[in-house]
Amino acid sequence: MFHIIDTHIHSTFSWDSEMKVEDIVSMAKEKKIYHIGLAEHLDFHSNHKKSYMFFDYENCMGKINKVKNDFVNLSAGIEAGEPYLYIDEYEKYLEGKKFDFIMGSVHWIEDLSPVEDRYFLKFKKIEDAYKIYFEEEYKLIRYGNFDVAPHLTLVHRNGKKFEKEFSYQKYKKEIDDILKLLIQKNIALEINCSGLRMAAEDFIPDKEIIKAYTDMGGNLITVGSDSHRYNQLFFGIEKAYKLLEELNVKELTVFKERKPIKIPLKDEKSAEI
Ligand SMILES: [Zn+2]
Ligand SMILES: [Zn+2]
Repeated sequence: MFHIIDTHIHSTFSWDSEMKVEDIVSMAKEKKIYHIGLAEHLDFHSNHKKSYMFFDYENCMGKINKVKNDFVNLSAGIEAGEPYLYIDEYEKYLEGKKFDFIMGSVHWIEDLSPVEDRYFLKFKKIEDAYKIYFEEEYKLIRYGNFDVAPHLTLVHRNGKKFEKEFSYQKYKKEIDDILKLLIQKNIALEINCSGLRMAAEDFIPDKEIIKAYTDMGGNLITVGSDSHRYNQLFFGIEKAYKLLEELNVKELTVFKERKPIKIPLKDEKSAEI
């Protein structure tokens, strides 16, 4: 029996999700999920002023404290967009607020998002679209001040339509630099399942990259469905566990009050049927 965790879930406290916190909790109970993490969007990019204004910290925490009576293993987090570019706003926002975990993401590169076709069409060489994205990821992690790096190769989620030859080997230098920095800064690597339902048709990042991370000694791994819709909740998580088992990963990481807690991949006590 796996201890199933999903620590990348967006509720209606994110501007782009339809899922109510109460529904997420009841579905987690129904599916016997061991631990869930809500990761609400917090963006400072000017195209996203709405999101920054949208996230309602007080109400969100109030709601989470209420449902925790019903489901204890719940961590309250945010997914901050480009905090390294909005350091003053970001650090000021965090003052006096308590989160279990913070994720740091690159959703925008200047005025385009690396999940849109328009971003790729801007480049003469597709490799540059990828390299510039990786440079931004590197800058994000170098700034740090967050706990989890979600969808590390987000550029490939849609980019596969344009870059058929993507592989860890092809971008090894850029990716290795990022993985080393993650380990050095104790930031967890997320296995993001959203790529399974999009052009990439794979985990974000993929198996080779996860293996490179563990070969380097990285041992802080989280798993998330990055779900915004009811039919995406927990999607791909069991598949991710099978992959992690193949890679001989024994433990996953969740966060409480921004401290990592290790959860064994499997509940060894329960009998396997
Ligand atoms: Zn994201
Ligand atoms: Zn997300």
